[in-house]
Amino acid sequence: MADIKIFKIETPLIKLDGGALFGVIPKWMWKNKYPSDENNLCTCATRSLLIDEGDRIVLIDAGVGTKHDKDELIYDFDGADNDLEINLQKNGYKPEDITDVILTHLHYDHCGGALKYNENKTKLLFSFPNANYHISKLQWKNALSPNYRERASYKPENIELLIGSKKLNLIENNKRLTKNIEIKIFNGHTQGLLVPIINYKNREIAFAGDLIPILALIPLAWISAFDVRPLEVIEEKEDFLNESYEKNRIIVFQHDYYNECCDLKKTPKGIRANNVFKLETIIKNDN
Ligand SMILES: [Zn+2]
Repeated sequence: MADIKIFKIETPLIKLDGGALFGVIPKWMWKNKYPSDENNLCTCATRSLLIDEGDRIVLIDAGVGTKHDKDELIYDFDGADNDLEINLQKNGYKPEDITDVILTHLHYDHCGGALKYNENKTKLLFSFPNANYHISKLQWKNALSPNYRERASYKPENIELLIGSKKLNLIENNKRLTKNIEIKIFNGHTQGLLVPIINYKNREIAFAGDLIPILALIPLAWISAFDVRPLEVIEEKEDFLNESYEKNRIIVFQHDYYNECCDLKKTPKGIRANNVFKLETIIKNDN
């Protein structure tokens, strides 16, 4: 059996309003857990994972991409060190090599990089021309007719090319998608959020995505205002954290600029981060 390889792929940073990120939690409580600037903006990563299983090369999420206007007020696209294509290349991969793209959901900061414009900006293209794109059926429906609450997060140019495409695979239930990747579906952040769990040499690595976007949002009552159904997020986080603790999973934070991964411990207050580390420290990619 071919060995599995995993790479962290950074994509452009975004800046999120601290108030929105931490919801009803007052700033005096969160300010020591996550830095913000003079405009109350928090620098956030949009981290992707690449999983090479030999016959399948899977990318999880694709960041904001290059289609959007850099001047959009609260978002700061820092493309320099965080270019998806350059970071794939650094690890020896080309966009053509990707066989599967898992889009956890279709909010612009997760799927923007999956499509790009041609050189003179007249045509949309798939950034990964040979890949199938996996999205939950519930999320797909939600994105096609968005509610007012989420409307600004869905950009028509991120979805257009997928409509009617044979590359689109809609996922209806929790399932094993590839040899090493299991998919779980959650609905509190948005309808049909996918959380991929990777079996890496008998250790599970969960890509928490927007279920727990940053380490500081592990406590059950710490809920982001971006979540459409906060009470459901609490229940989902509780189940997910209990199961992840039992299984000694590694949690990967997609949006946490400062904390990439952690494992979990049980405390009197609930499940919390135990060791915080970079993904590289536990991944040994054999060549
Ligand atoms: Zn989201």
